[in-house]
Order: sequence, then C-alpha cells, then structure tokens
Amino acid sequence: MAELSRDVLIIGAGVAGASTAKELRKIGFPGSILLLGRELDAPYERPPATKDYLAGKIERAEATWLSPEWCEENDVELRLRTSVLKVDTEAKVAKLQGGDEVSYGHVVFATGANVRRLNIEGNDLEGLHYIRALRNADSIRGELPQVQSAATIGGSYIGCEVAATLTTHGIATTVVMQEDHPMQIGFGEQAARYVRSVLEANGVTVLGGKAVEGLSGDDERVEQLRCADGSTVDAQLVIIGIGAVPDVMTAKGAGLEIGESGGIKVDAQLRASAPASYAAGDCAEFESVLFGDRRRIEHQDVAIEMGKTVAHNINGAGEDFTFVPYFWSDLADWLSLEYVGNASKGWDEELVRGSIDDGAFSVWYVKDGTLVATLSIGRSEDLMEARRLIAERASVDALRDAVPDVDADLASL
Ligand SMILES: Cc1cc2nc3c(=O)[nH]c(=O)nc-3n(C[C@H](O)[C@H](O)[C@H](O)COP(=O)(O)OP(=O)(O)OC[C@H]3O[C@@H](n4cnc5c(N)ncnc54)[C@H](O)[C@@H]3O)c2cc1C
Repeated sequence: MAELSRDVLIIGAGVAGASTAKELRKIGFPGSILLLGRELDAPYERPPATKDYLAGKIERAEATWLSPEWCEENDVELRLRTSVLKVDTEAKVAKLQGGDEVSYGHVVFATGANVRRLNIEGNDLEGLHYIRALRNADSIRGELPQVQSAATIGGSYIGCEVAATLTTHGIATTVVMQEDHPMQIGFGEQAARYVRSVLEANGVTVLGGKAVEGLSGDDERVEQLRCADGSTVDAQLVIIGIGAVPDVMTAKGAGLEIGESGGIKVDAQLRASAPASYAAGDCAEFESVLFGDRRRIEHQDVAIEMGKTVAHNINGAGEDFTFVPYFWSDLADWLSLEYVGNASKGWDEELVRGSIDDGAFSVWYVKDGTLVATLSIGRSEDLMEARRLIAERASVDALRDAVPDVDADLASL
C-alpha cells in the first residue's frame, strides 16, 4: 500500500482518457500524469471489435491507440488491470484496487460505457455474446468454427456490422430488431431502407418489427430465438447489440452530479460538479455550445476530442467543447457510412443529395429549421461543407434548393 501524489489522475484508459494524457504532453504540460484502467489491454480502439478484428483481418496490436512504449517515453504512468474504487473530491484523494491512495491536482472521469443487457429467458445459455471489448470479439471468433447460423438482437450499427462480418465468414445471419429497418432510429427510414437492401443483397436476413422474448436450446447452447409474435429464428450464436449505458459508478460514488441521460453532468468546458474534476467520452453529458442543449454522444472521435479539450482546460485554457461530432460505420466491404453533427434529439425534415438507388447520397437532417446532421453513403465529398454548415447553424431556407441539386456548389452557401 502506497500513498502517491500526481498532478493529473485519469480514471479509465479508453480513448478519452488516453487522449487527455496524450494531449497534455503534446501541449507541454509538465506535471505528473497517472492513467488508470481496469482492462488488461493498453488503450485501444473499439470499432474494429465488430469489423476487421472480428473478421480476423487485423491483429490486436493494430487496434492499439496509445502504446505502453509511448507512455514510457512521454512520462505518462499507465496502470492497467486496476480499478479506481473511490474518489474523495473534497480531499482530492482516490483509492485504488490493491490499496494504494493517490492524491491529485485534477481528476478526469473517462469511464466510458457498458453494454445494455437484455433480461430475457434463456440469457444464460452458451453462445450468447455482447461486444464492448476486443476480448469479446476473441470469444466470438473462437466459436465461429462450430457455428452455421447466427443472429443479432438489435439493428443499429453494432448489430448490422456484426451481421455483415459473420456473413462474410459464411455464417447464415439474421438481424432481429424492433424497428422496421436497420439503423432507422439513427438515420431515418429513407437511409434505413437502403441499408436494409444492401444487407439483404449480400445474404443477411433482416427481420424488423420483432421483439425477442426468449432464447432456447438443448445441451446448454442457444439454438433458437423466440419472438413476441410467436415466430422463431434459428441461431447457434447470438450477439446482442441494444445500446450502451454510461459507466458512472465511480462518479456517483464521488458524489458528482448525473445528468438526464445518465451521464456525468459537465459544463461546456467539460468540468464536472466537484472542484478540479472533469469528464470526457461516452460517460459525459456535456453542455453543447453547438446545439444549445445537453448531449451525451458515443462516438470515438468525440471521445478523443473531448479528451483534448479536458487537457487544454487542465492547462488553464478555459475552452469550450465545440467539436462537430463525427461517426463512421462499415458493413464488411459492402457499405461505408459517415455522419457529422448529431440528430439524437430528433429531426423534422430530411433533404437528400444524390441518388439513393445508386447508393451515392447524403441525407441532411433538419430540426426546427436548422441543419443538425448529415449522413453520407458514397458521398463523403459533401461532409466538409456539411460540417461547416452545421457549425454555422445553417437555416434550411438556405439549403432547400442547393442540397438536392448535385450541381449546386455547397461551398457558396
Ligand atoms: C463494438 C463497438 C464498435 C464501435 N464502433 C464505432 C465506430 O465505428 N465509430 C465510432 O465513432 N464509434 C464506435 N464505437 C464507439 C466508440 O468506441 C466509443 O465512443 C469510445 O470507445 C468511447 O471511449 P471512452 O474512452 O469514452 O470509453 P471506453 O472506451 O468505454 O473506455 C472507458 C474505460 O474506463 C474503464 N473504467 C471504467 N471505470 C473505471 C474505474 N473505476 N477504474 C478504472 N477503469 C475504469 C473501462 O473499463 C474502460 O476501459 C464503437 C463501440 C463499440 C463498443
């Protein structure tokens, strides 16, 4: 048991925490930094867990975001396999698994999110998986040789990406979801119908409008999903992708305020409710300068950019988080989509540029007369202007004629 003292204590070694440490060194922060994570691996990217890593196309090392060597060279103390058990934000002391205590100057909560669990009959059967970590993908990969059929419960990007990857492995895969079409909640019906057509054209079975009620199997392994309408789906492997829940256990224990979304409540500078405390990444619900309300966003680039803002503010910048969110998803090599902005609070109008039938289009989401997000499938050339127009809070009146006209120059708007 030791008593340590560090200028910055970062709780959580995902990309948000790692980005805070990296940026602190980049801007010449001279103080001591302790980056703590409970996982076994050095900070890595999660997106390959449903894509190239699950497909066996890349090795674990290629997903590393911040290596132990970089930490050593840059005097960042990286401690893995260690949980922070308790934080006293008055005394500015944290208690670590193993008994060490660390007093700190600033603390960053970068504790991420955990999978949302589905509480249904049969959820203890073998062959049932969630994906958050690369190690979850390892478990799924290990089972592939014994599997001919699979299903995803959930039709958002996790379910669709997994279904695409498994199908390319020759496994007959079904996407089962409550909404009618895959990715409909995030991108609306027009884009979702297109995503569905791509999945189906490549051999994925898509079943919309279905609630899974239970799982059954013989010999302890899952064999079938049972839906509320009485229908069944055969699957020897089931991956559940029904969303994530912010991990705020440590923050709650520290008495930090929690926002309506369940994330740690931070202001526009990402400061939490206790002195010298910040939050970044999936766990943080921030005051969005861009949208004029509070948001919690689960995108890798948002987590990285939040980490940078926290680093600047620890260093005294007093800067707001103004990054225009960016997200991507790949369905095998069948389809890549990119998305800027954020329409998680809904939208009331969609403008389309390009041709949905030809698979080269962008959808522009408008809420209360203002552009809030743009999705591109095969039209990434639109995204730079979309990002600028979202940041400028562009009015739909300025876009209504130009966006649908592919010959109109968006740069002039
Ligand atoms: C399978 C999958 C695919 C994805 N694909 C995409 C994609 O294609 N594009 C995209 O933009 N985004 C994608 N995302 C989202 C993206 O990965 C997340 O937004 C990003 O990982 C968030 O980073 P984070 O650092 O905030 O949280 P996390 O990556 O969750 O890291 C938080 C870390 O903190 C640790 N921790 C929590 N509490 C403690 C504690 N008390 N003590 C010590 N450690 C603690 C956790 O164990 C975890 O390791 C995907 C996510 C998943 C799961």
